[in-house]
Amino acid sequence: MAHVALPAWVMLAYLISGVCFILALRGLSSPATARKGNRFGILGMGIAVATTLLIEAPVPPGGFLPQPTIDDLQTLAQILIAIALGGAVGLITARRIQMTDMPQLVAAFHSLVGLAAVLVGWAAYLNPAAFGILGLDGAIEPQSRVEMGLGIAIGAITFSGSVIAFLKLAGKMSGAPILLPKRHFINLLLLLAIAFFLYGFFDSQSPIDISLITALSFAIGFLLIIPIGGADMPVVVSMLNSYSGWAAAAMGFTLHNTAMIITGALVGSSGAILSYIMCKAMNRSFISVIAGGFGAEAAVSGEAREQRPWKRGSAEDAAFILEQSENVIIIPGYGMAVAQAQHVLREMGDLLKKAGVNVKYAIHPVAGRMPGHMNVLLAEANVPYDEVFELEDINGEFAQADVAFIIGANDVVNPAAKTDKTSPIYGMPVFDVEKAKTVMFIKRSMAGVGYAGVDNDVFYMDQTMMLLADAKKMVEDIVKALQR
Ligand code: NDP
Repeated sequence: MAHVALPAWVMLAYLISGVCFILALRGLSSPATARKGNRFGILGMGIAVATTLLIEAPVPPGGFLPQPTIDDLQTLAQILIAIALGGAVGLITARRIQMTDMPQLVAAFHSLVGLAAVLVGWAAYLNPAAFGILGLDGAIEPQSRVEMGLGIAIGAITFSGSVIAFLKLAGKMSGAPILLPKRHFINLLLLLAIAFFLYGFFDSQSPIDISLITALSFAIGFLLIIPIGGADMPVVVSMLNSYSGWAAAAMGFTLHNTAMIITGALVGSSGAILSYIMCKAMNRSFISVIAGGFGAEAAVSGEAREQRPWKRGSAEDAAFILEQSENVIIIPGYGMAVAQAQHVLREMGDLLKKAGVNVKYAIHPVAGRMPGHMNVLLAEANVPYDEVFELEDINGEFAQADVAFIIGANDVVNPAAKTDKTSPIYGMPVFDVEKAKTVMFIKRSMAGVGYAGVDNDVFYMDQTMMLLADAKKMVEDIVKALQR
């Protein structure tokens, strides 16, 4: 498959697929249009894949479509089998996966993008003629050497970083930060070494340079993610998402594939923007996120818990107070997703509204286990969008709220983020639930902690009523009590 200039219809098809991806991103920015956005994404990818398959054989002069040879047909069959196998694995995984396990699935998929970039880069290095990147002097074109080296480096960082993120998010290794002495210095040294070997590879195309680029990039991906722990994982996931896009874009240059460049750049830049938004939401510095190990000086989570008095309430107590209230703010979190309590929660909200209570839902940007997790669940339960508020829009209202109704959230309502400099969540903006007249806290037991593994002073406040049960069961009981 020698590299030939792409015909106009191919460029047009790639352009259309790029426009579909942009429309997909636009659609995905709101739960109301997310499904439409997804369909645009599928259409764009379908066009891009079909076009790539069609152009892979050399075009005869004057011919629109080539006459396929036996070799071409065999290659096509292999590609189709690979697509069918990969597609089947993706389909089964997507159908089986619980929404709460999404972040680790996303991390796992990012690792595959990174690995694919490394493998494509190596394939192009070992067989440059097949990729149409051989120069007249018999060496790989200088520009392709740069693209290939960068693609392999970013791909390898994405791969090993995503594997660590997957292991941490899936609980297969401790989520606590692993802090190596002098890690920033080691990382800087590694980065400089990678830059040095990238130059060496550009200069000499040497197998030693490209091997060292690969090995050192695997190492730095690992080192960048192991110090990150506690509540900072959401930013890591979106950052790796961005890296995987740039790795794909770099490979698009190597393969002279415009669709891959466009898609990679879209993923890379939207991931970077999302990381920036998440950093702002978590009050973290964007630069230190990219450098790795941000917020890692904070105390390691899971400290000894002191025994303090707290008050337990029942579903009947909760229903009674809720009915008497004027303003109720509901704060959903990860536990609502685990219990799948969103439908019955909406039922409770509807009953309260019928009783004349003003009900609002407050969503923290990192509540749950993926960006937009709570928005998706509330949308699935048909909670009206105008009742759902972002952190900065509703945080000022807790002082006027009769009840802050916390269902399966913990870190996002933990005042330690505002007061305790040693806390792993210090600096993250949180809901001011402690200002509400009454705080209701649904969780399963006093022993359970949130993702960051820290105790929460709100449990022990005078106005707090602990409702200890599975979130769905507790809200069902509250609904029954409200209906009596
Ligand atoms: P947390 O993880 O802090 O707290 C979850 C709470 O839900 C716990 O108190 C837990 O207590 C309770 N819970 C769990 N299961 C149930 C159940 N079945 N019924 C009732 N309660 C239950 O959740 P938040 O949403 O407050 O915070 C999200 C955290 O996750 C943040 O630290 C964030 O940084 C992190 N994160 C977020 C990501 C994102 O993109 N949104 C990605 C990765 C991490 P108990 O066990 O006692 O029931």
